[in-house]
Amino acid sequence: MRAHIITYGCQMNEYDSHLVASELVSLGWELVDSVEEADFVLVNTCAVRGKPVEKVRSLLGQLRKEKERRGLLIGMMGCLAQLDEGQQMAKKFGVDILLGPGALTSLPEALKQNARFWDLTFREDVLDYIPPPPKGALSAHVTIIRGCNHHCTYCIVPTTRGPEVSRHPDLILKEIELLKQAGVVEVTLLGQNVNSYGKDQPGFPSFAELLRMVGGMGIPRVRFLTSHPVNFTDDIIQAIAETPAICRYIHLPVQSGSDRVLRRMAREYRRAHYLDRIRKIREMLPDAVLSTDIIVGFPGETEEDFQETLSLYDEVGYDQAYMFIYSPRPGTPAYKHFQDLPREVKVERLMRLIEKQKEWSYRRNLEWVGKTVEVLVRGEAKEEGFVQGHDRGNHPVLIPAAQAPVPGLYQVEIKQATPHLLFGEVVGAREPAPIPLPVA
Ligand code: SAM
Ligand code: SF4
Repeated sequence: MRAHIITYGCQMNEYDSHLVASELVSLGWELVDSVEEADFVLVNTCAVRGKPVEKVRSLLGQLRKEKERRGLLIGMMGCLAQLDEGQQMAKKFGVDILLGPGALTSLPEALKQNARFWDLTFREDVLDYIPPPPKGALSAHVTIIRGCNHHCTYCIVPTTRGPEVSRHPDLILKEIELLKQAGVVEVTLLGQNVNSYGKDQPGFPSFAELLRMVGGMGIPRVRFLTSHPVNFTDDIIQAIAETPAICRYIHLPVQSGSDRVLRRMAREYRRAHYLDRIRKIREMLPDAVLSTDIIVGFPGETEEDFQETLSLYDEVGYDQAYMFIYSPRPGTPAYKHFQDLPREVKVERLMRLIEKQKEWSYRRNLEWVGKTVEVLVRGEAKEEGFVQGHDRGNHPVLIPAAQAPVPGLYQVEIKQATPHLLFGEVVGAREPAPIPLPVA
């Protein structure tokens, strides 16, 4: 029995795919790399924007043909599976097993039944499941909180992933200890809003306390995603400043620089609050690398609103940014109540924002030339003769392949920068010497 998993979307989905992969392996399934080799194809879906939804539609069309040709079990999980839109698709394309993001631990039961199996419940045991360390990985994700209590008007996530539920700290620490023993050197703590960790469960540590606990476990690098500006508090910044293992890479999505748009997005903070958080980060973590998410062309966004996003970008001077064209998602308040802007307006604004991002990323990247940084080399780069890794600030760094023959942590002097890449040369390995990949 052979299974193949296809994953769309964010790091939470990558983590969930690993979770179901380990469930499958424990049931005796073999994981394979292609649809052709598989008896069971499981698609982990994303519903945040229209594009990934269309990708899933076209993939399910191909899988239905494959099913008609040779018989195939088709599974669908992730955010789209939780939505009516996804369930209509599942019916049309003959999906056999459909699991919402809260029902992943129902997979063994689903595979036992010889009938169509759909589960959209939010099961508590999803939080208790500790997947074994991914084989041979130096870097791994650990979910610390599921769901989202915010109601940003453009976003489908609160509907698909339900309210916030924090995982027990003992489980998180146990999972990280297992990762450490397996040779993982970088752990990323995951949640839609990690700052809210612990708030839903009396007696749990706060996010700042959890950061300190994880930072003291002996894992060289600890990162976290995603923070919400509304509760990115001083004690979190303090915890980062005091804990050397925590990477000073702060991803703080702003979405828009205009208060009028932030209000229509129901983003619970305004420009001044956001800039105050940036000021505090710069004051307490002067070497922090800053990135953000921005949505352009939100319904009703005027040229003046967009200019405010551009001016905020200049005020912060981000190192990196993830920029999205607003995508109307059925089921969200913005879809229901607001009129979408013409596509040409949205695309033209995105182009201008990308120009701004390139300028700033280049300026920021140049500041690293001549400095020595710690790079986690993961493997071959697309560019011939180079290996690729990332530093503690999440910059992609290319190194001549001969200088870093095995994946691991290296000290690298940055020699050159482009808007998107840093180029460097190895000046030493972190002690103990480069950690080779465990043999799979
Ligand atoms: N929870 C995180 C936060 O609030 O920053 C981010 C989660 S969301 C899955 C990732 C990003 O997708 C958001 O920050 C937002 O920029 C973008 N996004 C969400 N809904 C969108 C939509 N309808 N159209 C375009 N981008 C969207
Ligand atoms: Fe979506 Fe807003 Fe929740 Fe982030 S905070 S997942 S953007 S609703």
